Amino acid sequence: MTFNEFGLDARLLQAVEALGYVTPTPIQAQAVPPALLGRDVIAAAMTGSGKTAAFLLPILHRILQAPKLGTRLLVLTPTRELCVQIHEACTALGAHAGISCAPIYGGVGMLPQEAAIQRGVTVLVATPGRLLDHLSRPYGHLDRIDFLVVDEADRMLDMGFLPDVRRVLARLPKKRQTMFFSATLPPEVRTLSKEILTDAVAINVERKALPATGIAQAAYAVHGGAKNALLLALLKGNEVGSVIVFTRTKARCNRLADFLEGQGIPNVRIHGNRTQGQRSSAMADFKAAKVRVLCATDVVARGIDIEALNHVVNYDVPHVPGDYIHRVGRTARAEAVGEALTFVSPEEEAEFKMIEKAIGSKIERRALPEFELTHKPKRPAEPRKLDERALAQQKAAKAGKKKSPEVTTWGRSDGGRGR
Ligand code: AMP
Repeated sequence: MTFNEFGLDARLLQAVEALGYVTPTPIQAQAVPPALLGRDVIAAAMTGSGKTAAFLLPILHRILQAPKLGTRLLVLTPTRELCVQIHEACTALGAHAGISCAPIYGGVGMLPQEAAIQRGVTVLVATPGRLLDHLSRPYGHLDRIDFLVVDEADRMLDMGFLPDVRRVLARLPKKRQTMFFSATLPPEVRTLSKEILTDAVAINVERKALPATGIAQAAYAVHGGAKNALLLALLKGNEVGSVIVFTRTKARCNRLADFLEGQGIPNVRIHGNRTQGQRSSAMADFKAAKVRVLCATDVVARGIDIEALNHVVNYDVPHVPGDYIHRVGRTARAEAVGEALTFVSPEEEAEFKMIEKAIGSKIERRALPEFELTHKPKRPAEPRKLDERALAQQKAAKAGKKKSPEVTTWGRSDGGRGR
C-alpha cells in the first residue's frame, strides 16, 4: 500500500514525501480510510506507531476540502513534550498547504497563545489545563471546531486530567468528528470514549501492547547501590551510544545527573520540577546530540520522538508494565533498531517479572563480571518509595471520590498546567 492510494490532497502528499514516509504504518493504513470518510475512530496505538500522521493526514485533508475561517481541529494531549511534538508534525505535514498550528501548554507566557487563539489558527494542540485557562477568558471559545483528537487518553487519566478533559469537551460543538487514541483502555477511558464517540471504527483495540519489534531488550541484575557504577561502565565501554536513562523519581534523576556530571559525562535532565525553558533546552541539546545522556522521569516516556536514539536504560524498573513499554518505545522508532537495558535490583525482581509476564516473553539477562550479584553493594540499596506516578494515581483515585476542583488537577508538579 502507498500513501497515493488514500486519495489525499496533493499538498499533503508532498509533505509526506518530504518527510520520507514511503509506506503507511499499520495504524495509518487502518485509520486513514475511515477517517477520510468522516467516521469517528478509536485506536489502541502506541507512540512510535505513526499515530500522529494517522490522525493528522485525514483531518487536514478534510479541512483542505472544505476550508473555513477559525480553529477547526483541537488535539488534546497530556504532556507539554507531546504537545510540542504533535505541533511540529502538524507544521511539517501542513507546510505546503498553509495550515496554521499553535501549541498551547502551561509554564510559558499566555500572550502568544492568546494571539494565536484570537487569530483563529486552524489547528490547536493543547494540554487541558492551560487550554481551560484560555477558555475562561472572553476571547476563549472553540465554536468552530469540526475535528477533535484525544491523544493518550490513558495517560490523561493517570495524570488526573480527565475532569479537565471533560470541561474542555463541554465547550466544543457536539457535531464534529472525533478520533480517540489510548495505549490501553481502562474502564474510565472506555466510558469517556463512549461519551464522545459516535459509531466509531475500532482499530487494534484487542492487540496486546508490545514494544516495537527491532528493540533488543536485556536486563542486568545489579545491587541498587551499584547502578551508577554499572551505567558508567556501560557508557565508558561504549556499550551504549546516545541514551535516555529513566529513573523512578525526580530526586533520583537529579542525583544521577549530578553523578554523571562529576564523572565528566555531559548530560541533561528532564523532570516535573524543571521549568519549561530548562526542559525545552535539555530536549533540544539532546536531540542535537550536544550531550550523550538524557536523565529523565516518566515525563518523557510517552510520545517523545528522537531520531537515532540507540538506547533506553531503565535505571529503575518501572512500577507498571505499561510504563516499561512506553519507555522502551522511545527507541527504535519506525523500523530503526535499538536496545533497551533494564537495571534490576533484587528488590525489583518481582516487578520485573510482572513486566515479563505482561509482554509475554522472558527478557535476556546479561552481566558484567564486576557487577555480579555475589558482590556486596557499594552502599545499601535505597528503600523503594512510591514514585510520582503511583502517588498521582492514588490522588486521582481519591479525587474521583471527592470531586473537588483543587484535587482534580493534582499530579502536576507545576500547579496543574501540564508536566
Ligand atoms: P508517532 O507514533 O506518530 O509519534 O510517529 C513515530 C515516528 O514515525 C515519527 O518520527 C514519524 O515521523 C515516523 N513516521 C510516521 N509515519 C511514518 C511512515 N509511514 N513511514 C516512516 N516513518 C513514519
